[in-house]
Amino acid sequence: MSTNPPATVNRCGYCGASSYHRVVARDEAGAMRYTSTLQCTGCGREFTDLQDWRQGGQAAQSNTAAP
Ligand SMILES: [Zn+2]
Repeated sequence: MSTNPPATVNRCGYCGASSYHRVVARDEAGAMRYTSTLQCTGCGREFTDLQDWRQGGQAAQSNTAAP
């Protein structure tokens, strides 16, 4: 059984950057608004789920032992 603490790692799984920012887009009224899309400040990868960013796609590939 793992003793790892609950993963609160905030780091890009692709490039290792430790921050991201929310993508801003202009809405139909011409106002700049935050969207639901996030973007890594390191590699520029866009994502909507923080887990995607943290895991860097590993979750889709790895077949680690299921519980
Ligand atoms: Zn990145």
